[in-house]
Amino acid sequence: MQEKIVIAGGGLVGAMAAGFLARRGYRVEVYERRPDLRAHDISAGRSINLALANRGIYALERLGLMERVSQLLIPMRGRMVHDVDGSCNLQPYGQRPEEVIYSVSRGALNGLLLDAAEAAGNVDIFFERELLDIDFDEKRARFRDHAGDAEQHVPFDRFIGADGAGSRARALLLDEVRSKQPDRDCSERIEPLHHRYKELEIPAGPGGSFRLEKEALHIWPRGGFMLIALPNLDGSFTVTLFLPEKSNGGQPGFDALQTEAQVESFFRQYFPDAAALMPSLLQDFFHNPCGHLGTVRCAPWHWRDSAMLIGDAAHAIVPFHGQGMNCGFEDCVELDECIERAPGNWWDVFRHYSEARRPNADAIADMALENYVEMRDSVRDPKFLLKKSIGFE
Ligand code: FAD
Repeated sequence: MQEKIVIAGGGLVGAMAAGFLARRGYRVEVYERRPDLRAHDISAGRSINLALANRGIYALERLGLMERVSQLLIPMRGRMVHDVDGSCNLQPYGQRPEEVIYSVSRGALNGLLLDAAEAAGNVDIFFERELLDIDFDEKRARFRDHAGDAEQHVPFDRFIGADGAGSRARALLLDEVRSKQPDRDCSERIEPLHHRYKELEIPAGPGGSFRLEKEALHIWPRGGFMLIALPNLDGSFTVTLFLPEKSNGGQPGFDALQTEAQVESFFRQYFPDAAALMPSLLQDFFHNPCGHLGTVRCAPWHWRDSAMLIGDAAHAIVPFHGQGMNCGFEDCVELDECIERAPGNWWDVFRHYSEARRPNADAIADMALENYVEMRDSVRDPKFLLKKSIGFE
């Protein structure tokens, strides 16, 4: 009988993993906590748009999706650094025209990946199903069905946790390791950054025109904090403010932005040119959530031959290299290659996948943390601007 693989999480990485596994002929079921973003007007979670770079593009090409995805992309040829006095300076990512990264809508890309997985014919996607528990001995996962408020017990041959940074699958898998192999090296480190982020918007100009340079990643570096903006196809820019949670000495923090007057004065002082392009700044600021940022490192990433973690569930990183999704897509390629090398030998597949990906994930996590300092400081030390880019850098 065809093996059944259950994936918890139908975000970017879970949807892509489903596509790769379907191509290998497995029966795949994806259980996603949220409603179907293709049918409901919900945000796709986290950032509205993201930077897609070579690692992610390679994975999309392997799935044969790049032609469709390219309709969703805006090339960003460099970073446009905005000074407080309103002057700006484009720092190209490379000398050659192909040395660019791309802005893409998270919702549109996630929807495309879900469509592609479903079109394979052997993938079923269930929405509003939240992973609660996994019985690793019986190979059964328990989900809450939000729509019917009932519980569902789902048998599996293999289980993949793709349920993001706050992964329930990770907690359950690590508990299983601790209880069955108490002497084994088993760890979970969640390192909060103590800086948070808030999304704002620069709307399109007349006739859908772009009110800033379209093909650039815009940065307003201000030492301890920064604003960035990525273009959207409709002419708008999604703007993200990265700021410490708490003020410190002369450095502002989100705690100091409680009233409209405080927010207005903060933007007037540090980002006057951007504020002038945001007519609903105050409304957005007080309406939109303030997101947490942090790094998750854990070991192991798999339990015997029955379950493994992928994407942010295994290795959430801070977004300052623009590499979290790209790295998760690369996980999918590695998993696919491990399956090709040892088809049916899942213990080896999971072990080789973990051994190949963990050092890379740890390295990019460190680089992403370092890059935050570089990005927000780049106004003070222009040498940073000369570094070659692999992402946001
Ligand atoms: P997620 O996208 O978090 O998806 C997990 C899915 O699992 C969600 O759909 C969730 O609803 C579902 N889920 C959660 N719990 C359960 C449960 N118990 N049961 C069932 N389903 C569940 N990366 C880049 O490469 N480039 C960028 O430019 C970039 N910018 C970013 C900007 C910001 C502000 C942030 C916060 C992140 C950014 N990232 C970027 C990182 C990127 O968002 C993540 O790496 C990526 O979303 C990981 O995909 P994922 O599928 O592993 O996790």
